[in-house]
Order: sequence, then structure tokens, then C-alpha cells
Amino acid sequence: FPVRSSSDGSTEEKTLAIIKPDGLLGNYTERIKNVIMDSGFSILRETITQLDEERASTFYAEHSSKSFFSSLIKYMTSGPVLVIVLQKKNAVADWRTVIGPTDAVKAKVTHPNSIRAMCGLDLEKNCVHGSDSLQSAQREISFFFGEISSGELVGMHDEL
Ligand code: GDP
Ligand code: MG
Repeated sequence: FPVRSSSDGSTEEKTLAIIKPDGLLGNYTERIKNVIMDSGFSILRETITQLDEERASTFYAEHSSKSFFSSLIKYMTSGPVLVIVLQKKNAVADWRTVIGPTDAVKAKVTHPNSIRAMCGLDLEKNCVHGSDSLQSAQREISFFFGEISSGELVGMHDEL
């Protein structure tokens, strides 16, 4: 998996962030990007895409047997999403901390400074995604961007 070593010898990680349809439609992108930068992440790649039912179902395959699956797929295909590859030391866990708990209603109480508290609506419409492990991050980054070479420069952007 693509990793880089920073000058102090610790390992950089990549993780996948998604600004979900409600986040994008609600014009939260700039505020979320400010949090990304203030939290020390580099943006390696980003792309806007419209998921169809098949791609959304593949992305969320782990939840296919859940009662909320069809509702989740409807939500995730309701408009375009902004998909972002983030990099920093401990990126996977740190991004999960920055976005806050899954349920945005609870996030507003327990993690008022989190992104989901800022722009999420409820347990489903929580405005952002974050990979839950290094393995998930690898799978999810490949899903949208293919393989990203380990020598890729921090801060390199795709043209939108
Ligand atoms: P995450 O890793 O915090 O995004 O949460 P999960 O992986 O458990 O769930 C994936 C996504 O499904 C969440 O971000 C929500 O958008 C949605 N979701 C999770 N749990 C529920 C639920 O109980 N009901 C509904 N309607 N949606 C849910
Ligand atoms: Mg998850």
C-alpha cells in the first residue's frame, strides 16, 4: 500500500474522504476543506462524481444485508459527491476523529466541533465519509482512483 516516510521517520497514511450529496448541495465544501487544512491533511487527489446504484452498492457492500442499505444507496446516489484522498501521519484514525460519530444528531451533542456536527442532519445524512481502517482506505482509494504510486508528491492535485 502506498505509504511515505516523513522526515521524523514515522509513516504517512492515506485515507478516503467523501463529501456526500447533502454536504455538496448544502455548500459545505469550503468549510470542510478549511477543516481538512487546519487539521494538517494534504489533499492528494479529488474528483466529483455521480454514483449510480451499482457503484454505490459495491462501495458499501459491507452493509448490503443491513435494513438501511436501500435507503443509504438512495441517499448516496441522490446527487454528486466530492471524493478526496487525504494524507498525513495517522490519517485514517485522525480523519475519523475530525468527522465525528456516524449519527450527526448525537455528534452535535458529544462532538460539537466535528464535521458531522457542523453539516450532518441525522444518522444517515451525515454529510461525510471516512475510511474505517487502513485496509478499507486502500480498497476505497483504489475504487475511485486506481493505484496511487508511493512516490507521489504531497499536495499534488488532479485537475477538476
Ligand atoms: P460510518 O463509517 O461512520 O460512515 O458508518 P457505517 O459504516 O456504519 O455506515 C455507513 C453509512 O450508512 C453511514 O455513514 C450513514 O450514512 C449510513 N448509516 C449507518 N447506520 C445507519 C442506520 O442505522 N440507519 C440509516 N438510515 N443509515 C445508516
Ligand atoms: Mg463505515
